[in-house]
Amino acid sequence: MTQIFNFGAGPAVMPQAVLRKAQEELAEWHGSGMSVMEMSHRGKEFMGIMAHAESSLRALLGIPSHYKVLFLQGGASLQFAMVPINLLRGKTGADYINTGEWSKKAIAEARRFCDVNVAASGEADKFTDVPAEETWKLKADAAFVHYTPNETIGGVEFPFIPDTQGVPLVADMSSTILSRPLDVSRFGLIYAGAQKNIGPAGLTVVIVREDLLGGALKTMPLMLDYRIHVENDSMYNTPPTFPIYMAGLVFDWLQGQGGLAGMARINERKARLLYDCIEQSGGFYTCPVKARARSWMNVPFTLKDERLDDPFLKESQKAGLLQLKGHRSVGGMRASLYNAMPEEGVTALVSFMRDFARRHG
Ligand SMILES: *Cc1c(COP(=O)(O)O)cnc(C)c1O
Repeated sequence: MTQIFNFGAGPAVMPQAVLRKAQEELAEWHGSGMSVMEMSHRGKEFMGIMAHAESSLRALLGIPSHYKVLFLQGGASLQFAMVPINLLRGKTGADYINTGEWSKKAIAEARRFCDVNVAASGEADKFTDVPAEETWKLKADAAFVHYTPNETIGGVEFPFIPDTQGVPLVADMSSTILSRPLDVSRFGLIYAGAQKNIGPAGLTVVIVREDLLGGALKTMPLMLDYRIHVENDSMYNTPPTFPIYMAGLVFDWLQGQGGLAGMARINERKARLLYDCIEQSGGFYTCPVKARARSWMNVPFTLKDERLDDPFLKESQKAGLLQLKGHRSVGGMRASLYNAMPEEGVTALVSFMRDFARRHG
């Protein structure tokens, strides 16, 4: 039987060991007589599961104590709105960096609430690079600066954390969180939909600096006020209990990989394998992204002749390499190499690609 590897961009591959563990515990969790799905979110079992997930996440990322961790719903897309709703705090404008499709969606949502200053954009380069920091036109009176450290569709990842001169920095880390160590203290707020690098869809993780809480627009629903969720330990309403449990298992698994430093070494190796294969293909495969901005998590590439796309997808699927089709807005291929993608998956992809190029080159 061929081993299957799932390169989908999200919802995405989960660590096999986590799926097995969840399977063992699915019908009854730790002698409780219940599945995690059946538990009251306010019962001691689930409260323990959630506290463990939070403390593991805090340990992995070294989250300082003056940051709150929230387990919410609504995806990263709801954060596009919650960020301006909560962080404007009397100001009228915010700075956004536009590096691709997800930045654009964040900007479109923010425009409903404030004046958006697009302080830098990669649009002129067709989003193949991160705009050089010296060229950014940040405003001193901006309420916050928002950016997308990893553009999941374009495969553009920041090789640096921007310096915003004290203005709170907000990051949509949906597709890069936990891929490497991170200095959380550089940020005002970090958010991530879980379904790429954390766990199942339905959970959104928010990490927010305490002093930014309490200024939500009064006309907005209470559900969109971070402070309400902080005051209620993410239990203002029923939280996504099963995804939180699964995320906790993923955090434990990450500790077993050597934490984020261990994970970074593995991720860098995986990405290098694939980018080297593309570079050494003599133009058969091309990655449009500039070397310095290439993502470790999402690797877009095209074939030298579009007519080879269909055979590539059909044959790769037959070889057990799933979901390699690029996003509909850019075409070509995309291989997502999230934490849970084992190195053997990338090795299998690279040998398939070399063989395919030999046969069709
Ligand atoms: C997937 C993704 C989103 C959208 O997440 P939802 O949970 O579907 O709202 C936003 N930003 C980035 C960077 C993503 O990768």
